Amino acid sequence: MQKIESISVFDMLKIGVGPSSSHTLGPWRAAERWIGELKQARKFDEVEKVTINLYGSLSLTGKGHATDLASVLGLLGYDPVTVPVENIDPEINNIRTFNRLNLNGERSIDFSLENDIVFNKKFLPFHPNGMKFTARLSSGKTTSSTFYSIGGGFVVKEERKNAKKQLKKFKEFPFPIVKGTDLAAFCKQENKKISEIVYENEKSLRTEEEIDSGLKAVWDVMLESMYLGCHTEGTLPGGLNVRRRAPDSHKKLIGDSKYDTKEEWIEAIRNTEVKFRSILKWVSCFALGVNEVNASLGRVVTAPTNGSAGVIPAVLMYYLTIENHNAGFEKIKQFLLVAGEIGSLFKKGATISAAMGGCQAEIGVSSSMAAGALAEVMGGTPEQVMMASEIAMEHHLGLTCDPIAGLVQIPCIERNSMGAIKAINAAEMAMDADSIHAKVPLDKVIETMWETAKDMNSKYKETSEGGLAVRVSLSDC
Ligand code: SF4
Repeated sequence: MQKIESISVFDMLKIGVGPSSSHTLGPWRAAERWIGELKQARKFDEVEKVTINLYGSLSLTGKGHATDLASVLGLLGYDPVTVPVENIDPEINNIRTFNRLNLNGERSIDFSLENDIVFNKKFLPFHPNGMKFTARLSSGKTTSSTFYSIGGGFVVKEERKNAKKQLKKFKEFPFPIVKGTDLAAFCKQENKKISEIVYENEKSLRTEEEIDSGLKAVWDVMLESMYLGCHTEGTLPGGLNVRRRAPDSHKKLIGDSKYDTKEEWIEAIRNTEVKFRSILKWVSCFALGVNEVNASLGRVVTAPTNGSAGVIPAVLMYYLTIENHNAGFEKIKQFLLVAGEIGSLFKKGATISAAMGGCQAEIGVSSSMAAGALAEVMGGTPEQVMMASEIAMEHHLGLTCDPIAGLVQIPCIERNSMGAIKAINAAEMAMDADSIHAKVPLDKVIETMWETAKDMNSKYKETSEGGLAVRVSLSDC
């Protein structure tokens, strides 16, 4: 049987903490998994010392992406979905001051942030984002485990070991989908929209109530991150002295409108002036807000990554506040189901890891997800949805990843605004087009993205060794 990875919408849209899914969320999850392994092997109670080795891209941009801190938070036993974000700084400061780490909240051991996290420039062969946890046990023996953060918060040990699980998951989906052509064929055969096909697949994993409450939780975090970003002034951490721009922009756009809740905020935006310039500014403002929250280690939805977390909320918020004032949860749900499915096509056929494919794999994919989702909620056919997604990616092909100082700030934050605007334009173009005869099918652009990713120099794959990262220095900022 062919190995097919069946990916849920909740794998593509995950609640987590910034600034990076591959460099923060993934290593955090890896640390949690390693604790689980130690417990299962009955070695946890013997641990006396822990060392973390980071390799390749996790090492090169790990400081700026908070890989070291995320790994430690995982070792402390925090979960990225539920951790109170205000606890993060005090916990890290405690370790820095006392050189002690409370492993899984149960076992206090010596640990130095400076000496026990090793940044290795070398790349491990399996994937550019490798990391190894090593424990010295009271018996004098050591035990270690290597993980790979493959993008979007997904963590694997080795492909071979994952294959069995993927095969099992494949059998659970009534509509197994590898390519856009599979998706289109199921839509035609069942006379259903893309969101309806995806919903049927989701129902094989969880109840309707669980799907609804899960998607509500995802939207709540998206809305909260936009709201917080639009109302929080100041400078972002990391040393680049990047001033938060969303609140200034928001103040000018919202004017004297009064509101006390996020729901009233949505209504207030609906009542503002609708001119092309102000629409552009609103969409940018929503995207900037999310990614300013992300850059300050706040809570966002990985969609499909943290660096690109602002695109999907910004386009969905555009739909709710500008395009369709009557839209409610059913439209939000439809939008998120389609976005998740488009993202999974890229994960299966190419990559959502910037360390593998540059920024086309992050902002490009998020823009493609948002474009398809917007096309469907605007009444587009499955063909128009796929055309919208194709157009959005076609014009992100080759986009490099070159974050200055390894921080998810420049060019990342602005890039979310660009991805969101491009998604809206792509959806509009697809809605007006003869999508049945599209010259470039979605599957072809996914293949092209993957080929482009393989051709790309590693300087442009989340290593901060090329592009803006070397032309602009910290001292210029
Ligand atoms: S440049 Fe793009 S891919 Fe790279 S860290 Fe920034 S948002 Fe992510």
